[in-house]
Amino acid sequence: MKVRFVNPQRTYKNLKKELDGAYFSVMKKGAFIAQSEFALFETQFAHFVGTKYAVGLSSGYDALYLSLIASNIGHGDEVIVPAHTFVATASAVVNTGATPILVDVRDDFNINPFLIEKVITKKTKAIIPVHLNGRMADMNPIVKIAKNNKLMVIEDACQSLGATYRGKPAGSIGLTGCWSFYPFKMLGGYGDGGAITTNNKKVADTIRLLRFNGEDRNTGEYHYYGCSSLLDNMQAAFLSVKIKYLPEWIEKRRDIAKRYHDGLADIDGLILPHFSQKGFSDVYQNYIIQSNSGTKFSDYLQSHGIEVLTQFRTPYYRHKGLRLAKNDFPVTDQLSKEVCSLPIYPELKDKEIDYVIRVIRSFTTQLK
Ligand SMILES: *Cc1c(COP(=O)(O)O)cnc(C)c1O
Repeated sequence: MKVRFVNPQRTYKNLKKELDGAYFSVMKKGAFIAQSEFALFETQFAHFVGTKYAVGLSSGYDALYLSLIASNIGHGDEVIVPAHTFVATASAVVNTGATPILVDVRDDFNINPFLIEKVITKKTKAIIPVHLNGRMADMNPIVKIAKNNKLMVIEDACQSLGATYRGKPAGSIGLTGCWSFYPFKMLGGYGDGGAITTNNKKVADTIRLLRFNGEDRNTGEYHYYGCSSLLDNMQAAFLSVKIKYLPEWIEKRRDIAKRYHDGLADIDGLILPHFSQKGFSDVYQNYIIQSNSGTKFSDYLQSHGIEVLTQFRTPYYRHKGLRLAKNDFPVTDQLSKEVCSLPIYPELKDKEIDYVIRVIRSFTTQLK
């Protein structure tokens, strides 16, 4: 049996009529830049996240970068980011001219709030907690530290659409929440896309100008040096179709996570992504297990037809090209050796999940 890591073809098969309808409607109108589909999706997205505003952008990276620019962060400033995350979190900081200051994570893969205060200096301007894999960072202590030190909080929520922390949705707590509609995210488009969500009108207005080269489209006046970063109208039309299914897809992900948990919980040498701390409602963008056999384990799954992802076998701060100050991040270093992300998506079939579980069990038996 072959189990794909993601399967956009199945989603397309299920939603073909609606997606084709969206495509032909946009093509017939020739409506490609900032048209009604774009405006409608922004409204739907803000409603889903529970914020006053959503601003459609061309990627999750741009959402982070423009959030920092709109917060006046730049040369000479420091921004705190987790050591374990997708590199875009740090690149957005570097590309503003500011310096990313890395902090290690905890066993749930998210920034350790107890290590943040130690790295705060006079130059620190913001913290970017990342809600990795569909689980939110421990926001209460982070927000408290930010308040006490007058720091901005920008949420990298790219992997946690629909997750909550003590009842609060991801992307609704910080100054902005940053989102990606990269095809393999929970709400994925058919190309790149992103957005910010916020309750702050000034920030929403500023980012609306920045994404359109600083121009106020009503008056023609340039207010800033901006860039071209609009969510494509066609992508917005596709995302509007898909967002209706999101609540049901999230439930499906939780069901699959439970099935994996029930099938794997008794195996020695494996750590599963189910955490005891209360107040978190996770959406399982990824189902990352840890095996103390590391790459031997992930290779075994691959060789049995199961596509897995091992992000991030090499943490970004160990890549020479990024020239980041070397520090010790023992939890990140340990996680990185062990991570193995299993297939998880709403269209995954029970017999495929059971096959994955069987193969993992057979790996453990052959070790004995
Ligand atoms: C996907 C992702 C991003 C960047 O999104 P793009 O749309 O690919 O630019 C940033 N941070 C995290 C944690 C992500 O998973």
